[in-house]
Amino acid sequence: MSGWPKLKAHLKSDGVLSNNILLGLDFDGTLAPITAHPDHAAMPADTMKILSSLARRRKIRIAIVSGRSAKDIKARIGVPGVFYCGNHGLEIDGPGIRWTHAALRRSRAKLAALGCALREDLKGGAGEFLVEDKGGSLSVHYRGVSPILVPLAHKIVLKNYRRLRGDFRLMPGKKVWEIVPRLVWSKGDALLRIGRLTGCEKLIFVGDDRTDEEGFRTLRGRALTVRVARNGPSYAKFFLKDYRQVRAFLELLALRP
Ligand SMILES: [Mg+2]
Repeated sequence: MSGWPKLKAHLKSDGVLSNNILLGLDFDGTLAPITAHPDHAAMPADTMKILSSLARRRKIRIAIVSGRSAKDIKARIGVPGVFYCGNHGLEIDGPGIRWTHAALRRSRAKLAALGCALREDLKGGAGEFLVEDKGGSLSVHYRGVSPILVPLAHKIVLKNYRRLRGDFRLMPGKKVWEIVPRLVWSKGDALLRIGRLTGCEKLIFVGDDRTDEEGFRTLRGRALTVRVARNGPSYAKFFLKDYRQVRAFLELLALRP
């Protein structure tokens, strides 16, 4: 991966800035700093300002692609004209589209039962496990939990997850285990779908977590991909160090005529 100076040079040289762009952005760790409790995550005011200004541009469309539910992410950002894409790409709510993957509807009851079982099994831990049922996927957050408790909790999650008999898969993220329907479908597929709908010529996807790697892989050779992380193995072509560099990247896009 190449860092911010090379990404900046690439944007200027490739003519990217003159195309109609679909800009796909993850939320936690990409636009907003990661917080101890997922409910507390918020975009800094200046990032919100740039995002709102970009959303009003004629030649750019914005999609927020998150592991959160579309409803949650829409309430958290609330900028009009933006596509809110939740549950790792399984639902899209935006201008001219309100779509839910069939697997998400099929999975709801099983995930709700799994959520109840996990809350019960994990409640003996002295830590602050948070089991979040997002309607189409389930998160077990362990940020703030004593590291001593994590291996046992992982075993408990695995045991319950295995009872789902292959209909789901377990994705480790940043201090979170995500359980999602087993499908060949990623945030990248959701972005391609929005790209077709909007007729955008250039697709950009920025994400920070291991859970975004499938999206980067889907989009290989079809989009400009950026991982928010220190340089390391990734399917993304470029990297940005943190959400502050993401803001600088958005500022550059906002400078377009
Ligand atoms: Mg993230």
